[in-house]
Amino acid sequence: MRADDPKLKRLEPPRLTTWEKFFLPAIAEGLGVTAKHMAGVIFANKAITVQYPEEQHIPSPNYRGVHRLNKDEHGRVKCVACMLCATACPAHCIDIVGATAPPTWPDREKYPESFVIDELRCIYCGMCEEACPVEAIELTGLYDLTGLTREQMIFDKSKLLSVYDVTRHHEPMRYGRSPAGQAPETKILPPLE
Ligand code: SF4
Ligand code: SF4
Repeated sequence: MRADDPKLKRLEPPRLTTWEKFFLPAIAEGLGVTAKHMAGVIFANKAITVQYPEEQHIPSPNYRGVHRLNKDEHGRVKCVACMLCATACPAHCIDIVGATAPPTWPDREKYPESFVIDELRCIYCGMCEEACPVEAIELTGLYDLTGLTREQMIFDKSKLLSVYDVTRHHEPMRYGRSPAGQAPETKILPPLE
């Protein structure tokens, strides 16, 4: 579309009132939220923190944590090395090396010989999961991701498949095995090796 196109709709930035220019409404709104939580703690004994790690935080069902590579019903990696997730990734943290699928895998042409995600570069946006045509990559409810070196935070194929092994009973594949209309169940998961 050209800049002088008559169909072009120009939007004006909203004009702030003097009151708004001092950010006073936003500050008042923020203080209101703080006061609401303080009142809950003082009068209703409603804790808003947990004593981690003795107590575990349970994330919401749509929480986006550590990735996993799903397996199919034969225990093979579901990924068909189409590269859509790596193309969609805004952080460029997925590296896949595709290879010709073995002759005993007639349902696909390729599979990932190597599949690596740099969990430190990832921004956990979920675009890879959205892009995958075969529901092979998913983000799980695992959030306590730790490592002593940067190398430990680079997950290779075997590690990503092991996340599936750890989570599959708690978090069924979102599109494949979840009962219709139900969010996947999120539970406390054991730490990764
Ligand atoms: S969650 Fe987002 S940033 Fe992380 S690997 Fe997937 S697409 Fe990339
Ligand atoms: S995980 Fe999905 S989107 Fe990514 S390469 Fe494999 S099949 Fe394609």
